[in-house]
Amino acid sequence: MQRILQPGEIEALDHTSFPRVILPVPAGLFAERAARLRQLAEGNPIADYLQFVAKIMDAQHEAVASLSPPELDAALIASAQQHSMPLLPAVEHIASAWQEVLDAMLDTLAGAEGLPAPLQPLLQELRGLDTEARDDIARKLLQKEVAARHVGMAPFIMAALQVTFTQRAASLSVQDVPYTDPATICPVCASEPVASVIRIGGKAAGHRYLHCGTCACEWQMVRVKCSHCESTKGIHYQGIDGAGEAVLAETCDECGSYRKIVNQEKDALADPLADDLATLMLDLLMSETRFERASPNPLLFVAVAEPQEENS
Ligand code: FE
Ligand code: FE
Repeated sequence: MQRILQPGEIEALDHTSFPRVILPVPAGLFAERAARLRQLAEGNPIADYLQFVAKIMDAQHEAVASLSPPELDAALIASAQQHSMPLLPAVEHIASAWQEVLDAMLDTLAGAEGLPAPLQPLLQELRGLDTEARDDIARKLLQKEVAARHVGMAPFIMAALQVTFTQRAASLSVQDVPYTDPATICPVCASEPVASVIRIGGKAAGHRYLHCGTCACEWQMVRVKCSHCESTKGIHYQGIDGAGEAVLAETCDECGSYRKIVNQEKDALADPLADDLATLMLDLLMSETRFERASPNPLLFVAVAEPQEENS
């Protein structure tokens, strides 16, 4: 007797199939990023900055452990799937739990193992804001609107948002995640990728994934396509002489943008977000070319602000 196979069964028979989407594992993600940043800080001209961000990631790791699982709206998910839309766009679906996460992170960072004394007033200022003011800044940051007076607190707010959005993405199942159009934004939260990564290990090995800067979801995109405009023409790579090929800038002649591509085949521990932060030199180099960075690193506001303050 013949039986018609269901889509899931067909995929299971295909041993060459690879995951289309990789959902984050919050229990390890932030701790691993922190460890990677500390590794990359050694001998790095921006070591102090990387150590500072690693402490924020430690606080993220601690906060995510005590967070209760989010409730997902099944009807909302079904409707997004039907329309090939990102499931829960970040700006419209900020979980109220992010405020508790932020408070927990501020507690950690104010402690003995936390941030150095000169940065403590910044934490106090953030603690003093009411929930409405914090929500307002959060929404603006998710839309890449950063007021000068919020630049200092931006990495803490984005870090707390990352914790709740990552946990939410982790509570989905891969089958829930729709194929979206355009394929250049996160199918879960509609944010832009911070960088892309060529993975090693398991069925994902050798495939390129775009890594969401907000929820850490990864979705596959063929290497020949621009991760910003999906053009297959005029893709080139640029790196720093002598710095190896673990992190390169992928440039696109069609849209004039670049985004970093992190290659685990060249460095097995490479992490899209951490390695992007640690290779600011490559961004400086790219700023002298005609290519513009496609999307920012969500934790980078402080480093961007510092030179401006020195000039004023
Ligand atoms: Fe996302
Ligand atoms: Fe492009």
